[in-house]
Amino acid sequence: MLSVQGLTKSYGDLPVLEKIDLEVEEGAFCAIVGASGCGKSTFLRLLLGQEVPSSGEIALDGKILPPEPTPERGIVFQRYSVFPHLTARENLLLAHDFEGSPLLARAFGTRRADAEEMADALLERTGLANARDRFPAQLSGGMQQRLAIAQTLMKRPRLLLLDEPFGALDPGVRLEMHELLLELWREHGMTIFMVTHDLSEAFKLGTRVLTFDKVRHDPQFPNAYGATITYDLAADGSAFPDN
Ligand code: ATP
Ligand code: MG
Repeated sequence: MLSVQGLTKSYGDLPVLEKIDLEVEEGAFCAIVGASGCGKSTFLRLLLGQEVPSSGEIALDGKILPPEPTPERGIVFQRYSVFPHLTARENLLLAHDFEGSPLLARAFGTRRADAEEMADALLERTGLANARDRFPAQLSGGMQQRLAIAQTLMKRPRLLLLDEPFGALDPGVRLEMHELLLELWREHGMTIFMVTHDLSEAFKLGTRVLTFDKVRHDPQFPNAYGATITYDLAADGSAFPDN
């Protein structure tokens, strides 16, 4: 169970997120939609531990997650989440044994053979076995995103964060990516948060769809207000949970 309580984030005088409360069951697929600039990426970065909340907290199974990267959380962005100077396979292995990173060594152990086995299985699983020695620039956009997802799965995250992961892809490739993501989600059982600007994608993939919007909490400060979750919907469009 992931629990978010009173999560608030401002950048200087700019309030971005305001008092977000959310409980998400293990293995849920939460799609996030909302206007540009309303704080969706900021929310993902807070979940990842890459940003420090102004107030509030995020807990996984009752344990507060620190605002620093930890191995149970991984993220995939719209673009550029793989290293251009490394081959597909090296990209996966780098995720495993980042030079001098005690955090990653702790997460994955030191057995390189295990990492290589896992990398090869993931390359196979994401349809990249034949492209394992190619560099990202030699891969199509869809293949690069499959690589980015595989790289993140090397960490065996319990929480997979996806920030508009298919926004740059052609419609046909998107559909293939949907199938792959749903399969990986069912196989790995992780909890997913995926930001998208495509409502049909949100309702197709999400078990829950969260909408973010700016709301005024204090009429005295009409310009100083952040976004919060305004609707929490089940995949069939009904209120979630039952209220
Ligand atoms: P989009 O749909 O365009 O990706 P978003 O919902 O992901 O938008 P964010 O990127 O989270 O929005 O940004 C929310 C607000 O916070 C914006 O006004 C943005 O300019 C501001 N912001 C984001 N990151 C920072 C930062 N590091 N420093 C200052 N302001 C920031
Ligand atoms: Mg964003």
